Amino acid sequence: MIIAIDGPAGAGKSIISKLVAQKLGAQLIDTGAMFRVVALFAKKNGISWENGEKLGKIAEKLHFRFDLIAGKNNVFVNEIDITNAIRTDAISLGASQVSVFPQVRNVLLKRQRALANTGNIVMEGRDIGTIVFPKADVKIYLTATVQERARRRFHDEKRGKDSKKLLEIEKEIEERDYRDKNRTHAPLRCAKDAYMIESTNKTIEEVVLEILNLCT
Ligand code: C5P
Repeated sequence: MIIAIDGPAGAGKSIISKLVAQKLGAQLIDTGAMFRVVALFAKKNGISWENGEKLGKIAEKLHFRFDLIAGKNNVFVNEIDITNAIRTDAISLGASQVSVFPQVRNVLLKRQRALANTGNIVMEGRDIGTIVFPKADVKIYLTATVQERARRRFHDEKRGKDSKKLLEIEKEIEERDYRDKNRTHAPLRCAKDAYMIESTNKTIEEVVLEILNLCT
């Protein structure tokens, strides 16, 4: 069974996908992490996040493995653990920039499909239900208001109680939403047959239960 979970930044996809995968004993594939890795390796190699050709070549050299251990989805690239290195604000921005290039998307698309070749899979991202697995067994589009998504990020990252910082996060999220929804290749969309969950006023547990009910 393939469960596709798409939605904008900060909608809670990561935590919810993880809990659903744990409940179902499924493999969890975080496709956002793959775009983050391309941004990270480009940065390390002095390659611009605007250079689609070179970014595509970098993506070709990457082999991904995900391992959900004790509630943490560890990401290995060419067998090196890069789980924490990709979780910075700079890399979030870079991932959003490199993801517009078809040269990058085409390589990662092949990797994503190849990773999902055995057992139950929960795959989270922006284009899983529309492009990667248009025939997924269950498709979820998880969203929430920009303000609520910024508030959650603010809380998760335990930033100081500085309202300007919260507004900055809101602005970053709006920028990423805009880029994700307006790019030419595989833009963020709710698939026609996806089940939309507006989670602004829902708890994590409620959303997980809603998804699990769709999977049985
Ligand atoms: O989900 P996460 O925030 O880690 O994703 C980082 C970036 O990667 C997103 O802002 C988006 O631009 C890109 N992405 C994508 N397609 C996916 C997953 C992520 O374009 N399937």
